[in-house]
Amino acid sequence: MSNRKDAEALREKYFHSMGESLTEAGNLEDAVVFFQKAIDIRETSYAWYGLARALYAAGDVAGAVGAMSRAIKLAPGTAEYYHERAGFLEALGRPDLAGDDVGKAVSLDRNYERVDEIRWAARVVEESFLPPAGPIPDVTRIRSGELRRAFEEARGADILRKPSCPVLSCPAYCCHFTGRLLLHGVTIGPWKLQGLRRHFQEKGLRERELLDIFPVAEAEHAESLFPPQDVMKLGGVPSVAFPRQGTSPLGRDLARDIPKGKDYRTLMWIGQEARPCVFLSGGRCSLYDVGDEASLEPCSSFLCMTGFVFVVLRFLGLIDGEAMSARSMAELNGIAVDALIILARDVYGSDETLALSKTVADELQTAVEGDISGDDVLRDAAMERYRLLKTRHEDLIGGLAASAGKRIARLFAGGVG
Ligand code: SF4
Ligand code: SF4
Repeated sequence: MSNRKDAEALREKYFHSMGESLTEAGNLEDAVVFFQKAIDIRETSYAWYGLARALYAAGDVAGAVGAMSRAIKLAPGTAEYYHERAGFLEALGRPDLAGDDVGKAVSLDRNYERVDEIRWAARVVEESFLPPAGPIPDVTRIRSGELRRAFEEARGADILRKPSCPVLSCPAYCCHFTGRLLLHGVTIGPWKLQGLRRHFQEKGLRERELLDIFPVAEAEHAESLFPPQDVMKLGGVPSVAFPRQGTSPLGRDLARDIPKGKDYRTLMWIGQEARPCVFLSGGRCSLYDVGDEASLEPCSSFLCMTGFVFVVLRFLGLIDGEAMSARSMAELNGIAVDALIILARDVYGSDETLALSKTVADELQTAVEGDISGDDVLRDAAMERYRLLKTRHEDLIGGLAASAGKRIARLFAGGVG
């Protein structure tokens, strides 16, 4: 693809992602304009979908139905679009048509009968691995070493940061892309590039066959499309480097079993035409460990719903590699959803766990505030309670996970959990 074509595709991506972030920020009038600009460049189902959601949030329900219908026309096999349009039709006072759309969504994917519960469960489980909410003090101001370590541990308790996915039977759908990787934000930072160059040299590999370069001046709005640290002078011109693509498309058979995102939404960049990143080898990333940095920054935080659930199961010691390898990807996608609901209902979202997690976080916060304000008595008392509660919390999760694990094991055996 020429730089000119890349630049055009990046313009569409810019307008589309601006539409998404403006919708998120509640600036719906501008969001609508940006989605329309993206559609003017190229009609895609996901831009129509974004436009439909923005119109609905802005109160234009009929416009939202129209835009979602365009999305459906372009991607008639996407259950999510029917599900969303059903909500719009209900709001428009057409429960009869809404019922038809619910039926279509469920016929495409049975999980649409319980999609709200799936999204709730994903939120509950994910939040329990994210740093606690609340003001973030400057860690260098914490005087007590033990407290600083506890604080850093709590903030870094995110097992979802730079995870490696344990689903070995997956053909790594997440490394397949429709369009070049550059368009999906996969660029290579300077340290990783140095490590890669050493690696290529050692292995006798030719950089030109593996990496491509895009001069950022060719793209409008480059500053919001590329992380500034990834823009380097290459060949004397500010550019980004990114992996090339392999040659064989995913194909219809594999494309049937594509997992969903963590929010149970369709992964729009993977379709039967998607081709793998050139570094995908035997279903794994061949440059994950090259250089001092694991993975590439933009690849590092992505996990699909299935990968996410199995990362959590691995953390809890509930993975049975043998049972996993005997299951197809489609089956693992289904098992992941059932396991997620068990984890949310019985482990991370139980009233007892939620209450205890909050108390643990509150005690740590009190200790930090006491330390920073010079109140050592307050800090030490809070720290003592924190240690006690943290142990209690770990024991509680361990106990609940052990009984949830039995139900999850039954999912592999073909039962209902
Ligand atoms: S994150 Fe999902 S798509 Fe990627 S390798 Fe794991 S299971 Fe496959
Ligand atoms: S660099 Fe590795 S993780 Fe990133 S897309 Fe390529 S193969 Fe996948």
